[in-house]
Amino acid sequence: MSKRPKYVKPEHREILTAEVLASKRISPNFQRVTLGGDGLAGFTAMGWDQWFRLFLPGRDNSLRLPTSTSSLGWYAQYLMMGKEHRPLVRNYTVRDYRAAGFGEFGSTAEIDIDFFVHGDDSPAATWSNSTTPGDKAGMLDEGITYQAPDHTDWSLLVGDESALPGIAGILRSAPRGLKGAAYVEISHADDAQELGEPEGVQVNWLVRTDPNAEVGAVAAEAVRAAELPAKGVYAFIAGEQKLCAGVRRYLAQDREIPKVDITFTGYWRVGKAAG
Ligand SMILES: Cc1cc2nc3c(=O)[nH]c(=O)nc-3n(C[C@H](O)[C@H](O)[C@H](O)COP(=O)(O)OP(=O)(O)OC[C@H]3O[C@@H](n4cnc5c(N)ncnc54)[C@H](O)[C@@H]3O)c2cc1C
Repeated sequence: MSKRPKYVKPEHREILTAEVLASKRISPNFQRVTLGGDGLAGFTAMGWDQWFRLFLPGRDNSLRLPTSTSSLGWYAQYLMMGKEHRPLVRNYTVRDYRAAGFGEFGSTAEIDIDFFVHGDDSPAATWSNSTTPGDKAGMLDEGITYQAPDHTDWSLLVGDESALPGIAGILRSAPRGLKGAAYVEISHADDAQELGEPEGVQVNWLVRTDPNAEVGAVAAEAVRAAELPAKGVYAFIAGEQKLCAGVRRYLAQDREIPKVDITFTGYWRVGKAAG
């Protein structure tokens, strides 16, 4: 079986400068930041789990953006800037997109980002809390990773809070006839959201009640107990690295799901800052 490419990349990529239009707490642990401004005219919404690199002001509080859009190119430019002047770069998902003229805050296109607020020593999450309208941020679109092959007809979605926006995007973009199940681990029941899932998809909110529990352990356990069809399953797993690697191994070894029918992306790692 031929290997599928990891991402569906956007046809056109440019580093955009967006403007913060709003930031509000939408649930105990999620902060929603809305970006807009004329810079978003260059953004093409693809739906699903579309993600992007978010560039935020660096140590010197200025926002310097690379200009190259190739993966090696922008990163080389970033390194050349020197530690003091580099932007802070993190990965985020388009939680919602409103085209120009359909926005809540103005006439330009708008993108909502849902930040999981996970600790004090976490610059991107902290920025989401403190940013105010008019602040600037950069974006580089990276496309989508959810790619259910044609021979599958049942989707299993697994993730922690960081994957909630991606799972929400997938369920909203999916054909209404999609069948499957989603397992989303959260640390507070009130962080659950309306996901707009197709009728044939069962969404399971799994609350991590023990604050000392490993993130992802509850979701991994629920997948082990899940009833899955004997064939035709496509799995999308995202979130903490160990959750992703563990669930993928389990699905491949114990449930005999072909590895090519599993997309798994470690979004973050315990004890390790991204970037
Ligand atoms: C493709 C992709 C899409 C993503 N989309 C989103 C999204 O829409 N919303 C979102 O909230 N996150 C998303 N993430 C995850 C996000 O990029 C990371 O959580 C990132 O590390 C946050 O940066 P930070 O500056 O807040 O913390 P960092 O400086 O990277 O990390 C600081 C500390 O916090 C810990 N940490 C990092 N992330 C988490 C977490 N989620 N939970 C608990 N502890 C954590 C680290 O282990 C480290 O100890 C996505 C990641 C990828 C790869």
